[in-house]
Amino acid sequence: MNRTLNVSYDDVLLKPQYSDITSRSQIDISVELSNNINLSLPVIASPMDTISESKMAAAMSNSGGMAIVHRYNTISEQVGLVTSAHHYTETTPLYGAAVGISGDYLERASELINAGVRVLCVDVAHGHHILMKGALESLRALPNIEGVHIMAGNVATLEGINDLADWGADSVRCNIGGGSICSTRIQTGHGMPGLQTIFECAKTDRDVKIVADGGIKNSGDIVKALAAGADIVMVGSLLAGTHETPGNIIKDGEGHAWKEYRGMASKEAQMEWRGKYSSFEGVASRVPYRGPVADVLNDLEKGIRSGFSYSGARNLTELHAKAQFLLQSSSGLSESRTHISTRNW
Ligand code: IMP
Repeated sequence: MNRTLNVSYDDVLLKPQYSDITSRSQIDISVELSNNINLSLPVIASPMDTISESKMAAAMSNSGGMAIVHRYNTISEQVGLVTSAHHYTETTPLYGAAVGISGDYLERASELINAGVRVLCVDVAHGHHILMKGALESLRALPNIEGVHIMAGNVATLEGINDLADWGADSVRCNIGGGSICSTRIQTGHGMPGLQTIFECAKTDRDVKIVADGGIKNSGDIVKALAAGADIVMVGSLLAGTHETPGNIIKDGEGHAWKEYRGMASKEAQMEWRGKYSSFEGVASRVPYRGPVADVLNDLEKGIRSGFSYSGARNLTELHAKAQFLLQSSSGLSESRTHISTRNW
């Protein structure tokens, strides 16, 4: 397809292809983030205070994915979230934790590594930044950093992913302004359609993993992101409202159950974690309560496996090689959505 078009997930479809895969169990959707870090489910939960704390970290690890425990707290609170996750896990836990690029980030990173974190996520909205360079270089010099995977972001360009890789990142979160709760593009005019970002970043010749982050609405979008060149996806809204997200269930007057989901740069989140707000580039919202996250992940996994099968791909390497994208028209998009007309019985 013409990769100079600035496409996002709904603009394209993957062309169904001949398959000789007779059972979806023959499909391997796992990803190796680093030599010692494998995920059987290529899904990471976002470092947000309405998504990833202890219960989500444990549940994601149990399901073969991973959560990044958010950083909007004190060092001891964040370390407490990590260590209490160990009680909920069934197997050797795998989770990550986020740090910033200024203030206490080095001490925070060191304490988190001592608490058992194997993935550090250097988590800022505009990652292609001189402060990120200094932060990655300082993190790489920590005495206990050996064997720890460093994820960093976010970026939207090939120059961005290349620089972060050169500065020391093992994986990079790609996409600026595409999240469901994000208003960065409205507030600042900057960003790049989410799938286009993956096509761009996938041109990298560096040894770096691509994390497609934000704007992923369903398992079809996950398959599209992986097919476009991502190694793994990061999701917030897909997991929002599940039992394991932080926060209480909110009951409305009609008996419906909800949970809060909010951008970390929303006014509400900033007021809560630092008592003031600067430019706000996110919104706060409520989403329906959806029960255990394992059920949601189970459905996503089935959809991803089925997606690989439609491209005739047994694993991620084959999907990257075989996938063929088609542009779809707006009537194609309407047809792609369920469109049975409703009827009153
Ligand atoms: P979602 O999966 O579409 O809901 O997007 C989640 C992603 O949005 C996160 O992983 C972050 O990259 C991003 N994000 C989180 N909070 C904010 C915000 O307040 N503004 C902009 N982007 C955000």
